Amino acid sequence: MIKVNENYMKIQASYLFAEIAHRVSAYQEANPDAKIIRLGIGDVTEPLAPVVVAAMHKGVDDEAARESFRGYGPEQGYAFLREAIAENDFKARGIDISASEIFVSDGAKCDTANIQELFGDDITIAVPDPVYPVYVDTNVMAGRTGVAENGRYGKLVYLDSTKENGFVPNIPSEKVDLIYLCFPNNPTGATATKEQLQAWVDYAKANKSIILFDAAYEAFIRTPGIPHSIYECDGAKECAIEFRSFSKTAGFTGVRCGYTVVPEALMAYTKDGEAVALRPMWTRRQTTKFNGCSYITQCGAAAIYTEEGKAQIKATIDFYLENAKLIKTALTDLGFDVVGGSDSPYIWVNVKGDSWGFFDKLLKEANVVTTPGAGFGKAGEGYIRISAFNSRANVEEAIKRISKVLA
Ligand code: PLP
Repeated sequence: MIKVNENYMKIQASYLFAEIAHRVSAYQEANPDAKIIRLGIGDVTEPLAPVVVAAMHKGVDDEAARESFRGYGPEQGYAFLREAIAENDFKARGIDISASEIFVSDGAKCDTANIQELFGDDITIAVPDPVYPVYVDTNVMAGRTGVAENGRYGKLVYLDSTKENGFVPNIPSEKVDLIYLCFPNNPTGATATKEQLQAWVDYAKANKSIILFDAAYEAFIRTPGIPHSIYECDGAKECAIEFRSFSKTAGFTGVRCGYTVVPEALMAYTKDGEAVALRPMWTRRQTTKFNGCSYITQCGAAAIYTEEGKAQIKATIDFYLENAKLIKTALTDLGFDVVGGSDSPYIWVNVKGDSWGFFDKLLKEANVVTTPGAGFGKAGEGYIRISAFNSRANVEEAIKRISKVLA
């Protein structure tokens, strides 16, 4: 009799977006004429930048000729992409990260999910609440948590992001080993200042902890002074791993590409206290379990670092940011307390009540899909997340309908 990994039985049954999809399709079935506008799941709507498309076409042509054909590529990613990343995302901002510390992948979801393999089973883990669910569920699968009770797993340390702390979690009073942070944040849209991130880095260094910093929404930062990378903080290369994604930066949700930075100086420890470098461990993990992101995709990703590419992806992000501003202004004018919506594609609205109830009200009365905050964790109750990823016409129509329902 083969045994199953019983940790999977601990995972809370209904995945947030499956429940939303179920409620939306039930409503649509009962109301076939309703023109539903989806501002729920954070998928992009705008097509790829022309430079990306041209570079991918050229990549296909390379694969079509014997002289330029490429088979298996380096598991860490092609040097042409890793060097462009190091130069543009780091060196241009005064951050000393080299191409050898960058690992290209098929997206930040896999990397944020897989990275925990490098750490022991008995470490303590801190996760923000509300949270991008992947951080939590992957640790449940790996058996690092207890069972869920009242919406929280045993053994995890929850870092509440609330109105009181400006949606940037306070440093815990106890010692934790692994800390997940995400800024600009999904779902709240909040950003952290350099001082706030520096305090986390100082804590991690003092406690020999590691920060897993998810910067998937970095490209939305426009306000000067907000850090784009955890490595802007002193000492972060000794205590942090950073994840980036081309999904929201360049519309790659379907194409699939991202990267992870594991600095050379980053160490974890054996039970006897011996320091072990994590970069070679991650190299070993990737070369064993991952066969690289496709050449064609990496050609497309590298194109966003050309001058033309930078201008084209900026224009698309500016477009989403304008959507976010319209939504934020409308909700603020309706009297709601709102976070995010600038430096982020997400608007986090305090609905002063049950978030699933509010979700249902907007679905049924405005035919607009949002995301109930409670689905991201206990501290998300009382909020909804609205996403700015849609056409201008849909955003304007959604605002009109929401304003009518809530006025
Ligand atoms: N990290 C955060 C915070 C996200 O919101 C998302 C996607 O929604 C991801 C990672 C996943 O990114 P990717 O598409 O690169 O897997």
